[in-house]
Amino acid sequence: MKKLIIANWKMNPETIEQARLLVTGLEHRMHQVLEKTDVVICPPFTFLAPLSHYSHLTKIGAQNVSWAASGAFTGEISANMLKNWKTQFVILGHSERRLYLGETDSMVNAKIIACLNAKLTPVVCLGGEEGALKADMKSLVSKQFLQVIKGLDKKHIEKIIFVYEPIWAISTMKGSTPATGEHAEEFIEYIRSLVAKKIAKDRAADMQILYGGTVNRDNVHDFARFPRIDGVLVGASSLDRDNFWEIINEFARESIHKS
Ligand code: PEP
Repeated sequence: MKKLIIANWKMNPETIEQARLLVTGLEHRMHQVLEKTDVVICPPFTFLAPLSHYSHLTKIGAQNVSWAASGAFTGEISANMLKNWKTQFVILGHSERRLYLGETDSMVNAKIIACLNAKLTPVVCLGGEEGALKADMKSLVSKQFLQVIKGLDKKHIEKIIFVYEPIWAISTMKGSTPATGEHAEEFIEYIRSLVAKKIAKDRAADMQILYGGTVNRDNVHDFARFPRIDGVLVGASSLDRDNFWEIINEFARESIHKS
C-alpha cells in the first residue's frame, strides 16, 4: 500500500505566489517518490482554484466543507463546489475547528456524509478535544470514532481515512509534545481495531490510517519506520519546502526497504 502524506496548510501562506512556489517545488520532485507515496496539499479555500492548474502529481484537498449540499449557509462551501476545483480530499474534525469554532462530532458526522455523497474522501482526525490528556486518549478516540461514523454503512466507513491526531501533539498548541512513533503506532492499530469491529477485518487492514502532530524532518524516521503507520498529516513543516520534502522522502525510502 502506498504511503499518504497530507499537508495541512491551515490559514497559510499569505499569497498565491508563495502557495504556487510550494506546489511547483514539489511537483518537480514528485516523480522520484510517486510509486511509493501520494501527496495531498490542503490549502485555504481561495487557493484551491489557482493551485488546481499547478498540481498534477500532487493531489488537492480542502480543510473544511459544509454539511449542506446547497442553500442559505453564509460563509460555507459545499462538497460539490469543492469538486469543481479538483479537490479529492477534505480534512474533518481537526482539533482547531473543534476548539475555536465549536465543531462537534455530529457536525463531523454530517460533513462525512456530505463528502461521501459527493465522492470526496473524508480525512477524519481523532484525538482532538480541549484539555484531553495522554491518559484519556483511548476513551476519547473511541467516543469520537463511534459518533462520527453514526449511521454509516460498511462500504462508507471503508472510504474514510482516519488520522490519529492527539491535540497535545499539534505543534501550535501551547506546551505541545510530539507523540513517539511507538505511541502513534499503538493508536493507529487501536483505531484499526475499532474499524475492524464495524467492517471486515481484512478490509480494515487495507485502510490507510495516519498520524498527525509535529512531524518534521528531524523526527520523521521515528514514524516512518513503523510499517503500520500509513502516512502523516503535517501542519507547520508542510510550509517549508525542504522540510516537507524530507518527510515525503523518508516515508518513500522506508516503504522501499520494507517492500
Ligand atoms: C495539524 O494541525 O494538522 C498538524 C499536524 O500540525 P503540526 O504538524 O504543525 O503539529
